[in-house]
Amino acid sequence: MEDNPKRGGQVPICDEYGRTSIPGVFVAGDVSGIEEASSAMIEGRMAGIVAAEYLGYVDDQEMEDELEGLDKALDGLRQGMFAPKNRGKLIEKTEEGIDISTNLLKKGYVSDDEIERFPGVTHKKGVHPVIECTQNIPCNPCQDACPKKCISIGENITSLPIAVADGECINCGMCVASCSGQAIFLVDEDCGDGTATVTLPYEFLPLPEDGTKGTALGRDGHPVCEATVVSVKSVKAFDKTNLLTMRVPKEYAMKARFFKVGTEEAAI
Ligand code: SF4
Ligand code: SF4
Repeated sequence: MEDNPKRGGQVPICDEYGRTSIPGVFVAGDVSGIEEASSAMIEGRMAGIVAAEYLGYVDDQEMEDELEGLDKALDGLRQGMFAPKNRGKLIEKTEEGIDISTNLLKKGYVSDDEIERFPGVTHKKGVHPVIECTQNIPCNPCQDACPKKCISIGENITSLPIAVADGECINCGMCVASCSGQAIFLVDEDCGDGTATVTLPYEFLPLPEDGTKGTALGRDGHPVCEATVVSVKSVKAFDKTNLLTMRVPKEYAMKARFFKVGTEEAAI
């Protein structure tokens, strides 16, 4: 082990492919230095191929060829505002030139007055995705998950996701279920009766029944208004993520972001 603050603290001594100082012991992922999930997966493949070479399952050339491709893939992920080259620097804007959310950095959530400036946050009639993803991280399952191409990140995997203007959302929920950052909501801002619906990932058990009364919480976790559960969907394609849809007064469509069973006095 060594104390390596640049890699997150106490980490095993290892080379760039996970070979530790103990022959035959390899490491990958957060145990070898904190990064994000996609990088950890590539590091795992790197450690796997060098382990295979160590054990004699592949020859040196095969290992080198494999590592060359993995090096390129890892380099592609190590871009964006959290790239190694930016460590220690004060980042004030996203790659797109948008002011970053200072509230997110200081308090852990994006404030209501900051959220509208991000390209995934748009307004339209009917159910549509509201993508509250505000940092340039290497991530794109939302784009791949949408069967109607309503979400786009493009070639550069660290770009902020955008809500495609003419995308025709079918309210399937796949984007919400696939977002590991829990940053996507499906919102119908005006149901025509003074209410709005908001669909969100819900991780608490027991799952509330349809019609359950409760409280909608804002991005800061504080109560914003009363809410009623419309439905809770748990299908195989969601891979164990439950999607809860709640009904709220329409003026809270862009503020209500979580459901809590039981009533609490709204903060505003
Ligand atoms: S709900 Fe389905 S169709 Fe709508 S944006 Fe998400 S993945 Fe696409
Ligand atoms: S899956 Fe979620 S966290 Fe990843 S880019 Fe899409 S919105 Fe952002």
